[in-house]
Amino acid sequence: MRVLVVEDEHKIANSIKKGLEQEAYAVDAAYDGESGFDLALNEDYDVIILDLMLPKLDGIEVCKQLRANQVHTPILMLTAKGQLNDKVEGLNAGADDYLVKPFAFAELLARVKALTRRPRNSIGSVLTVEDLSLDTLTFEVKRANKPIELSKKEFALLEYLLRNQGRTLTKDQIINHVWDYDADVLPNTVEVYIGYLRNKIDRPFKDKPPLIHTVRGFGYKIGRRK
Ligand code: CA
Repeated sequence: MRVLVVEDEHKIANSIKKGLEQEAYAVDAAYDGESGFDLALNEDYDVIILDLMLPKLDGIEVCKQLRANQVHTPILMLTAKGQLNDKVEGLNAGADDYLVKPFAFAELLARVKALTRRPRNSIGSVLTVEDLSLDTLTFEVKRANKPIELSKKEFALLEYLLRNQGRTLTKDQIINHVWDYDADVLPNTVEVYIGYLRNKIDRPFKDKPPLIHTVRGFGYKIGRRK
């Protein structure tokens, strides 16, 4: 899951970024409305966290212009105390939810998680395919009831595959949703990480059908082979 944070107070922006990265999100930060708008328009995000009071272009304008440009990414608007009217205006402008500053990080995280659409094959916070399960809250991954240890990036990649199971995902789609803008992504980065995942979720379970499939010339998908 990839998140854009648009907030002119660097301290707040960077602490949100750090906190979300701890939770295995890929996060880009922008510090004014214009650059936030540009990123939101040109990159693929799963959630946008948008401060209301911003230099160059305020949060309401960013929101309106994104919706006018057919960007329907869920937006969580941040407002300072006492901007209640602006908050209502923000929601009318197309934001999906709002949070009043100051807030506890746990509250922000809960809102972000609520805004990332729950896919079909999920029970609460758990995503599954066949005998593999991934819990987006506790970070537990299991196959055939055996716990599997994943790095943050491996976890993020598996989560993205599971949220789109049965669909073939191109390397570009994977990069856009799992890595942030500043990450050093080499042409074979996705292959390398797919390899790491296979070593953990498919290779040790030799008597079971593999779950990760290469679709030659297109990309990768997770699911039962038809
Ligand atoms: Ca601000």
